[in-house]
Amino acid sequence: MKIKLMESLLECPVCYETMKPPILQCIKGHSLCGNCCDPSKLTKCPTCRSAMSTTRNYQLEQIIKQMKLDSKVKCPFAEEGCQFVLKASEMLEHKKECRYRMFECEGKKYCGWNCNWTGPIDKICDHFKTEHTLLEFKGAYKKDLDLKENTKHVAAIDFGKRSHIFWMKSKVDVEKEKCFWVFQRIGLEKQAANFYYEFELCDGPVRKLKVSEFCEGDVREAEDIFKSEKCVSIPFNLIKNYIDKSGKINFRYRIMKYNSEHPVAALQDKTTGNIKNERV
Ligand SMILES: [Zn+2]
Ligand SMILES: [Zn+2]
Ligand SMILES: [Zn+2]
Ligand SMILES: [Zn+2]
Repeated sequence: MKIKLMESLLECPVCYETMKPPILQCIKGHSLCGNCCDPSKLTKCPTCRSAMSTTRNYQLEQIIKQMKLDSKVKCPFAEEGCQFVLKASEMLEHKKECRYRMFECEGKKYCGWNCNWTGPIDKICDHFKTEHTLLEFKGAYKKDLDLKENTKHVAAIDFGKRSHIFWMKSKVDVEKEKCFWVFQRIGLEKQAANFYYEFELCDGPVRKLKVSEFCEGDVREAEDIFKSEKCVSIPFNLIKNYIDKSGKINFRYRIMKYNSEHPVAALQDKTTGNIKNERV
């Protein structure tokens, strides 16, 4: 049935809008919004003048609900630049991960830092640069690691001159006796797997512990990812071997683009067998 005809059939004879649940009927079966049926003002059916009943039209309520979900809507962040037009049901999901939404400071959200910043995606790097930590797509660090306390940390990573932004989140979990790291890309969940990261704990030129894993989207809770262990997850008894005398660990990380047509293995150099460094 044509949408316009459908809409006119679902129009309430009192408010002239699409009927809203609860939908009530007259004794002959004409329907209207429950809210438009105030018994002090409306005693007879506006269509046939029969008495109103208190019988709800559940099927019609379901049809209207479904029609609303199937109709296409613009992203609520269209003015900010988002071009997505989706079914209302899909938009509910999209707007949670839309890159044009407003962001709370991830330090507050994830670590509980006392920071009340909110802003759009293109201001996140500036905020983390001035107030917290902004990192490059790769780096090598020496960091204190105290395994006696639960701690969390987050840094922003600027990848490709701000064309992509990632969170590097870490956690020391005393109860689980594990340390976690994860790299999450801000934006659509399904695009996150276009990137992967390598994370390496090192102690001198020989002793290394390396994890290579796909990036996650930023909407997923880090706690959830840590639970799934699809991240860097290192038990205390293993990471202890990498803590030096001053209580620090050395680690390196690097985020890279993943090309499914030319996966990493294809980069293997036939002459030497070494993996070539992938350009970013
Ligand atoms: Zn109405
Ligand atoms: Zn009627
Ligand atoms: Zn959007
Ligand atoms: Zn902040």
